[in-house]
This record gives sequence, C-alpha cells and structure tokens, in this order.
Amino acid sequence: MPVDVVFFGPPGSGKGTQASRLASTLGIPQISTGDLLRSHVARGTELGKIAKPIMDSGALVPDDLVIRMLKERVEEPDATGGALFDGFPRTVPQAAALDKLLQEEGRAVGVVLFIDVSDPVIVERLVRRSLLEGRTDDTPETVTSRLRVFREKTEPLAELYRQRNLFHRVDGDRPVEAVAADVLAAVNHAAGRILA
Ligand code: AMP
Repeated sequence: MPVDVVFFGPPGSGKGTQASRLASTLGIPQISTGDLLRSHVARGTELGKIAKPIMDSGALVPDDLVIRMLKERVEEPDATGGALFDGFPRTVPQAAALDKLLQEEGRAVGVVLFIDVSDPVIVERLVRRSLLEGRTDDTPETVTSRLRVFREKTEPLAELYRQRNLFHRVDGDRPVEAVAADVLAAVNHAAGRILA
C-alpha cells in the first residue's frame, strides 16, 4: 500500500535533511518543490524565469504553477508507490490539490510531520546557510520575509491536518539524530493506524 508523507516546517527547520533520510528509509522518492523549482531556474525554463524573482523575494510561487509542476512529478513511475512531499503543500489550496491528486490514484496523505523551530534559531541557521551554500534566497531580508510567509500561509495547514488526525509536531531545535528518531516514531505510529 502506498505511503504518502507530508513534511513541512519553517525555512531552516532542517526539514530537507530529515525528509531525505526518511524517504530513503521508506524507499519512496522525496519530492521537494523547492528543488524542482531551483532546477527549473537552473535550466532557464519558462517556469524558472517566472519563479526566480519570486523565490529571491521570499514569496511563494503561484499555486497553479506549483500544483501543475507537482502533478507532473507525482505522475512519474517512481512515485506510484507513495512519495514524501517536502515543502508542499504550503497553502490551503495546495493541500486541497494534493488531496485530489492522491485521491485520483486511490491514495491519501497518511502522515504529516511538522518540524518546529523557533524564529531566532531559524534566522541564525539561515544566515549561516547562506554563507555556506550561497543560496540567493537566504539573505537576512528574505529570511525574515520567508518566515512571515510561512507563519501566515503555511502554518494554518497544521490545524487542517490536526483535525484529520494526521498531524505530528517534532521539535526541530535538537541534534539531527534526535529529530530523526522522533520522525521515525511518528511514522511508525501512523503506519500502525494506516495498516490497521
Ligand atoms: P524551499 O527550498 O522549500 O525552502 O523553497 C524555496 C522557495 O521556493 C520558497 O521560498 C518559494 O519561493 C518556492 N517554493 C517552494 N515550494 C513551494 C510551494 N509549495 N509553493 C510555492 N512556492 C514554493
């Protein structure tokens, strides 16, 4: 039975690292809309040209564009047995689109992991990451703006998934191994329910 996992958290929460570890543990692809968009930017596609200035400003790329891009990725053969969605959905309409997309395949979101980190820790981590990786959307100004966008547009998804009993909050302000152990425990807990 396919397992579909949603990962979300503020920028700099370490969700990418945790998502990639969990995806390999579960043997499902990690679908990161941030990575997909960065690849479009690097290849200079039409979508990439639209997305670049939006990403650099710290805002969200319009729902219709991201949803279309995600749909294409989900339809690739490696994702038929489930996928780990990293950084998607980020808005309520995206969450609805994901439900619809999975439903068409007889699938459903099985577990939602929220990697939670406090704002001061995030700002410090992201500014450090910008120095190490040279990401153009990690400047102090965009970090603040991405954080605001997250709190306004994405955090409300927590309530939506909480009501559906899918939501697990993990304290991300700890060493990677400790966070990974909690992530796995949450998935095992959910798996018991999914397979029951
Ligand atoms: P990330 O690597 O997940 O932090 O994403 C980097 C940037 O890509 C974000 O700040 C947004 O501009 C854009 N992005 C990634 N995922 C989405 C999404 N699901 N919806 C809208 N914009 C997105």
